[in-house]
Amino acid sequence: MPSDIAIASVLGLLVGSFLNVVIFRLPKMLERQWAREHQEWSGVEPATELATSAPFNLLVPRSQCPKCAAPVRWQHNIPVLSYLILRGRCSRCQATISPQYPLVELATAAIFGLCAARWGQTVTAGAWCVFAVGLLVLACIDWETTLLPDVLVLPLLWLGLIAANLQWTATPPSDALWGAIGGYLSLWSVYWAFKWATGKEGMGYGDFKLFACMGAWFGWQLLIPLILLSSIVGTVAGLALKLGGGLREGGYLPFGPFLAGAGFLCLAVTPESLRGGLGL
Ligand SMILES: [Zn+2]
Repeated sequence: MPSDIAIASVLGLLVGSFLNVVIFRLPKMLERQWAREHQEWSGVEPATELATSAPFNLLVPRSQCPKCAAPVRWQHNIPVLSYLILRGRCSRCQATISPQYPLVELATAAIFGLCAARWGQTVTAGAWCVFAVGLLVLACIDWETTLLPDVLVLPLLWLGLIAANLQWTATPPSDALWGAIGGYLSLWSVYWAFKWATGKEGMGYGDFKLFACMGAWFGWQLLIPLILLSSIVGTVAGLALKLGGGLREGGYLPFGPFLAGAGFLCLAVTPESLRGGLGL
């Protein structure tokens, strides 16, 4: 139904607006939490900006311009539209607003629209929306901070196993379970082999957990296609960044966004037809 897709997309824009808050604030919330824990353990005062006891969570304080601290008014908080009307600048100090805000909103709208088009108004559509939105948030946070927070990855992994068991997804429960185990162990082995051979760390534990999560959602049979796809996407992006001079210092690229990118591609082709194509 076209109207379903339109409603889902608008809902996606609103959800995307909230995801921006999560992407921006969650790493800072974790940083504060770690500073507090470190203080309790070591007795060392954290840096002043982390020592403040002012509440900072997903709801408080209200959104403000990071440069001039002007509060974001409701009419400037409309997904995508406000960005276009303000031409990507703060209404008071003209500081540029990151294009990531409207892009995350548009991506979420596309995810919701796609899931509604494929699965209609079903719990299956809802489950895949949650998975894809989780990947989107993790990809953005990993790209900016090279962190894949447990507080997001682990619930998403559990939800994949639950969704398979309740038949919200077409992934058989045993495929989901072995997908989670195989996803974790495969990258864990690669990590230790690489570390043993070169003495360097090629990726982090967050990558193992994210791959385990994707195994839980897609089933173990898609682990190899997923890792191949993410390596291709990662190599292309790495080369493009290198040629464009956009690589950060040390040339390090987090792997999470490319794993997530492969997940989006599989979701776009739809997990059912992928499994069908593999004769499952
Ligand atoms: Zn401003």
